[in-house]
Amino acid sequence: MAVERTLCIVKPDAVEKHKAGAILARIEESGFRVCALRMTHLSRGVAEGFYEIHRQRPFFGELVQFMTRSPVVVAVLEKEGAVGAWRDLMGATDPAKAAPDTIRKLFGSNVGENATHGSDSLDNARREIGYFFPGAEVSSL
Ligand code: ATP
Ligand code: MG
Repeated sequence: MAVERTLCIVKPDAVEKHKAGAILARIEESGFRVCALRMTHLSRGVAEGFYEIHRQRPFFGELVQFMTRSPVVVAVLEKEGAVGAWRDLMGATDPAKAAPDTIRKLFGSNVGENATHGSDSLDNARREIGYFFPGAEVSSL
């Protein structure tokens, strides 16, 4: 399988609970290389742009409100098959339905406040990485 990169966001709920470090530790223990990392407080415009594909969904307003309420940690993760591997490590969108020992089961609260984001395809990973880390910020070492 090819080495891929994917975007991770540690969402406001997890940062507020001081779990960003624990989540990054799980990520590294699971064999991902963190090749870019930054804390940022998303503006409404940046959050709306990131979630543009969900604009028509009923939870869009709630999602933007949540994602802008306090800082997030954004990271680029690299591994063989990183897109699928990071989705597997996160678990299902709804923490109540997530498999044991997944990040959303361990750290998520509910279907909205679910601790982390992960790109859902290689194409979206490229778009999302470029959205937060244009160009040289992503280490190739
Ligand atoms: P993410 O894109 O954050 O990795 P996902 O791909 O598992 O999550 P999506 O369907 O893309 O799930 O939904 C994006 C985000 O919108 C979810 O992670 C969650 O924070 C929020 N969300 C999804 N469904 C609901 C819902 N029914 N009510 C409130 N918020 C929701
Ligand atoms: Mg998604």
